[in-house]
This record gives sequence, structure tokens and C-alpha cells, in this order.
Amino acid sequence: MAYKTINPYTNEVEKEFPNATDEELEAVLAKAHQLYLDWRNDSESLEDRKAILHRVADILRERRTEYATIMSHDMGKLIGEAEGEVDLCADICDYYADKADEFLKPRTLETDAGKAYYIKQSTGVLVAVEPWNFPFYQIARVFAPNFIIGNPMILKDASNCPASAQAFADAVLEAGAPEGSLNNMFISYDQVAKAIADKRVSGVCLTGSERGGMSVAAEAGKNLKKTTMELGGNDAFIILDDADWDLVKEVAPQARLYNAGQVCTSSKRFIVMADKYDEFLEVLKDAFSAVRMGDPTDRTTTLAPLNSKSAKEKLEKQVELAVENGAKVYYGNEKVDLPGQFFMPTILTDITPDNPIFDQEMFGPVASVYKVNSEEEAITLANNSSYGLGNTVFGEPEHAARVAAKIETGMSWINSGWASLPELPFGGVKNSGYGRELSELGFNAFVNEHLVFEP
Ligand code: NAP
Repeated sequence: MAYKTINPYTNEVEKEFPNATDEELEAVLAKAHQLYLDWRNDSESLEDRKAILHRVADILRERRTEYATIMSHDMGKLIGEAEGEVDLCADICDYYADKADEFLKPRTLETDAGKAYYIKQSTGVLVAVEPWNFPFYQIARVFAPNFIIGNPMILKDASNCPASAQAFADAVLEAGAPEGSLNNMFISYDQVAKAIADKRVSGVCLTGSERGGMSVAAEAGKNLKKTTMELGGNDAFIILDDADWDLVKEVAPQARLYNAGQVCTSSKRFIVMADKYDEFLEVLKDAFSAVRMGDPTDRTTTLAPLNSKSAKEKLEKQVELAVENGAKVYYGNEKVDLPGQFFMPTILTDITPDNPIFDQEMFGPVASVYKVNSEEEAITLANNSSYGLGNTVFGEPEHAARVAAKIETGMSWINSGWASLPELPFGGVKNSGYGRELSELGFNAFVNEHLVFEP
């Protein structure tokens, strides 16, 4: 069985989930498609969906610690961070329920040729392929808008957080959603491809790695299915001359260590002016050496294990590769004497553009620190990446915003670490993918903007 909860703190297999059969997949596709038709033919059903989505939010808030504990057992997340994630999911559900009428309103189009407007219609069943790093949030941000629109969803979640995906889907059913609304399925890659090819499926959204994105987007492309791709990142954290140094000290370590460094928008490359470089390294080292690793469900723990044995092995190999190619370990990279999948916070310096790690995403608590002599050099370095997800700029706000506007990413944060809110679009450019989730932009990803024109 591929779908398993293997607690990365204890390494114990806590639960296994049998794979779905092709017959089960077919039955779910049929049920979801019928629901799409029922919703489409019943304009009153929108009111029900709004109320149900608010109830999902209530259930999430009522059971935040229970759900947070499930996530923690699946992939090792700190309990406090997991509770924050559940709260954010509740906010996302409320947001789309509250905004439903506004976002679905027909839009008038300016033309001298007659009367024109477009309406927003559902498009059909979607396949959502989601990762383990935010087991609830990744589902919420695609499920909530599409539930309002009337697009039922087949969910293929990561094989290492099946209990979280099932708990989210159960909460949706418990809130009163009709069967077929959100279908969590323990399916193989081949079955995902089969679902994508199915005529009843209209689109595919994926959050995950470049490699996963490329294969799923290729399947979708072969079948002319619309996709959104939310992929990896190698975000820069740029510290300008006029940055508030106290704020930098406070924010920088968490921008790297939150969720054990396993965030697509974690700051991964710290770009520092030469005169502050040594001081910055010490700031990061002090914070990195102060973490407390341990049981992620213990509220005094500050650094969680990585999500799996394979994740730890991959990161170990990447650091080794970096060092073999000239990088220096300023701090960390020592074995952690605990049974779980812990990785010691690590600071790398002297990574040159010819180092293979220069353009790789390191998904864990490893910070790469770069010294630059000018703002232009900082911008060039930040843009020297095949990724383009987000970036952070610290400096006098208007100055920092001018610099941010020169970085080739989908998002910038000024004088703050990365953040995600229901009303703010999330997504990237280059190999970080395309399309947006959250906000009205995310809502529009899988609607049919249907023109009505009368000359
Ligand atoms: P991954 O290997 O691509 O897995 C993500 C999901 O895709 C999982 O459900 C995985 O299933 C599935 N998958 C992978 N290849 C597939 C294929 N050929 N056919 C069908 N399903 C496939 O990604 P990951 O390494 O676990 O996740 C971390 C990555 O996600 C990082 O690069 C991170 O930056 C990125 N991420 C991006 C965002 C964003 O919004 N841009 C947000 C969070 C994470 P299995 O688990 O069964 O392999």
C-alpha cells in the first residue's frame, strides 16, 4: 500500500490506506460528474453551497487541535503551526462563501456594437494533485473556490499524508456537502493520468515539485485540459542598505525555519550587502543554534523533523553536493542525535553560480547566504534562478518596493517574511509554475467566462 502515515518523529507506521481500484475511480467520476450537472441545472444550489462552506469553516475551528495533531502525525508539523494552518483554511472557506455573489456576478463589457456581458459558469470535475507540506491548506485553497463555482473535485493528495486528506474530506461531508463534492482518492499516478484523460474531467490543478508538475501538465496537455501549476521556489531575501536591522534579525531566521524549512516560499537565498555580511551570518547562526528539536506535538519544540526519511536523505545529498563544489558550511550540517527525521539548521556560504546547488531548491532548514556589493548585483543575483515564486525585500518601504518590482517572481513581500491570506493571489512564474490560487484570480482559474452578445 503506497498511502501511509509514517510519523517522522517516531518513524512508526501508524496507518495504511488501501489503494482505490479502477472501478472505484470510475464510480467516483460518475458521481462527481452527475453532481456537476445537478448543480449547473439548479441555480438555487449556490445558496446551499455558501452555507455549507461556512459550516466547513466552523468545523475546522471547533476541531483545530484534533486536525493539527493529525497533520503532525502525518508529516511532522509543529502543533502550533498546524493549528495556524487550520485557522487559515477556515478563513479561506469563509472568504469564498462571503465573496461568492460578488465573484459570480455577470460582467458588462464596453462595446458600441450592442449589449455584451459575460457570465461565469462551472466547467466540470477537476483533478487536484496536492503535496504534503501544508496538508489542509493546499486542499482548502483549491476546494473552497471550486465548491462555490460548482466544480466537484477528485483529490489525489501526497502518499505520506493520507490521514490529513481524509480528515479534510470528511469535514466537508460532515458540513453537509453532497457526496461527490470532494473525493479524496488513494490512487496511483496511472490512475491520475486516467482521470485526467477522462471526458468528464475539465481541468487539473497541481501543487508540488517541478518534476511532478511537468508530468501532470504533460498528461493534461495531451488531453487539452486546462491546468494551474504551483511549483517550487528558491526565494531571495534581499537586505538593502536602509533596512531596519532589528526587523531583519527578528524575521530572517523564521523566514527560513518555519515548517522546518519546507515551504515553497521559504526564504532560501539570503542576499546581503558586504558591510553587513559577517554580522548577518552571526545573527542567523545565533538563531539557528537556539532551536529546540523534539516532539512536534510538544508546544515547547521549535524545530520539527522533516516530513520523511527520503526528504532528509535528499537534503543531506544536496548539502554534500554543495560542499563538494566549493560551498562552505558556516554553521550546522551535523548529525542530530534523535530518532526522527531531524536536520540540523545549516548555513552555507560561498555558493558560486557554477555550483549545481546554486539553482536547486533545498527543501529544509538550510540557508544559503550571498555577499553582494551593490543593489544592482543583488537584483541580478535574485533573478539568476530558474524559479520565480516569491521574494522578500528589506529596506525603506518605497525603496524596497522599487527593488521588488525588478525581481522576476509572482509575489514580493516588503519588510516581512512570506505570508498567505485568502484575499491575496498566490503563484509564480518561470519554473515555479503558472496560474494563481486564492483571491479572485484563483477563483477564476476554472470558470467558463461565457460571453453573451446582442448586437
Ligand atoms: P511532488 O513530488 O511533485 O508531489 C506533489 C504531489 O504530486 C503529490 O501528491 C505526489 O504524489 C503527486 N505527484 C508527483 N508526480 C506525479 C505524477 N507523475 N502523477 C501524479 N501525481 C504525481 O512534490 P513534493 O516534493 O512532495 O512537494 C514539495 C514541492 O512542492 C516543493 O518543490 C515545493 O516548493 C512545492 N510547493 C509549491 C507550492 C506553491 O504554491 N507554489 C506550495 C507548496 C509546495 P505522491 O505523494 O504519491 O508522490
